[in-house]
Amino acid sequence: MSKAVVWFMEARSRRFLESTAIKGRQILEHSGWLDHLHPGDIVAVKTHMGEAYNVGYLRPAIVRTFVDTLKERGCKPFVTDTTTMPYHPWISRTLSLDHLETANRNGFNQASMGCPIIIADGWLGTDDVIVDLKGRGNYLNKQFVARAIADADALFSLAHFKGHPAGGYGAAIKNIGVGCASKRGKMNLHGALAGDKPVIDTELCPGRKCEWWETCEACCPEGSIKVTEKGLEVDLDSCVYCFACANLCVNMAGRKAIQRFDHLPALGRRIADSALAAMMTKESGKVFCINYALDITPSCDCYGWTDTPLVNSIGVLASTDPVAVDKACIDLMNEAPGLFNSEAEEFNALAPGSKKLNLIKDKDIEAQVYGGVENGLGVAAYAIQEVPLDRSQEAIARLYPDKVRAKKLKPMYEKNHPLSNLDTASFGRPTEGVTHPKHPKK
Ligand code: SF4
Ligand code: SF4
Repeated sequence: MSKAVVWFMEARSRRFLESTAIKGRQILEHSGWLDHLHPGDIVAVKTHMGEAYNVGYLRPAIVRTFVDTLKERGCKPFVTDTTTMPYHPWISRTLSLDHLETANRNGFNQASMGCPIIIADGWLGTDDVIVDLKGRGNYLNKQFVARAIADADALFSLAHFKGHPAGGYGAAIKNIGVGCASKRGKMNLHGALAGDKPVIDTELCPGRKCEWWETCEACCPEGSIKVTEKGLEVDLDSCVYCFACANLCVNMAGRKAIQRFDHLPALGRRIADSALAAMMTKESGKVFCINYALDITPSCDCYGWTDTPLVNSIGVLASTDPVAVDKACIDLMNEAPGLFNSEAEEFNALAPGSKKLNLIKDKDIEAQVYGGVENGLGVAAYAIQEVPLDRSQEAIARLYPDKVRAKKLKPMYEKNHPLSNLDTASFGRPTEGVTHPKHPKK
């Protein structure tokens, strides 16, 4: 069986040039993928800019480093994501208006990125193209791909590896499969167009005695929910299976009267189909995937909170194969010891070798990987290649174009030194052991 190459650099950082932002750039340069790009190529840098109040998403400084690299090659990058379904009542990314506000709040804007930020499926999530999977899909025949991403010359997936409540985990396949799908593409991959629905157990709903009943009705964009004194009524004909009510009922009301997180095997495979559709919009060699296995939390960056990590940060992994790079992240997470005071401890998943997220989610979380192998998105077999750190003068010069920035101070100090004309000795006593202090005179 052929193995995909997965490039890797560890998370530990001890000195200059060991920042994980720089390591990602060094992996990208080492991989040779940039040679597939031409000056003027439009590159969609697909990342997740975080839900409001989430603090686990990838730091803007990491994303900016890649934007700079692409611009240096003469490409035209844009940082991008898509509008979401209302996964919960307080979601702040369902319109491009809200998504851009949230991105700005989380540190992503034209000024911080050095390139445009584009919500790739437009105002309400209908600016998309329909891609025919030509019979390759596990579940999907056709999928809606966000137009700005579909029209770009290249796709650079920059994903945060972590757990996910419905998908089991999130990384490259999900960043491409869910993140490049338009809003109606997300409805499609969650099964709504095929007729899937949330599981309703009206017996568990206390009606208007539930303190959340008004939110429950209000969060449904289809007007499908009615809560009366007697209980819950859901019109499943109009429901488009968006999860808003389910996340409210499970996470806030704690009732599970509306829920469904048991469909992971099908959802994972649909996500892989959707990723295939997005990749089919690109010529061969025009997709690259970097996964940051840092802050490996049990839930995704779509929630308005961030739990403690399950394992220590692992590093930066990359491949042209989204299946292989995801599988490598899962395996390295499982090999690592779990962390105390995390869900790894709560679910007895501390031992190295324990399948962390399988134990936490009580299911096999690799459905995206299986689906991606079955539809030909990629391969699960991989060979890790450790990328040596480039600690050369040339590397420093590329990353610090001002060269020795401190040199600028010399002529300024000569004109106006910060300590000039001060009685420096009057500002305090020297450290113990300094017997003959020399107070600077300027
Ligand atoms: S009833 Fe259906 S459409 Fe309405 S919020 Fe719930 S899942 Fe979404
Ligand atoms: S949140 Fe759940 S328990 Fe509360 S009203 Fe809605 S369905 Fe009923």
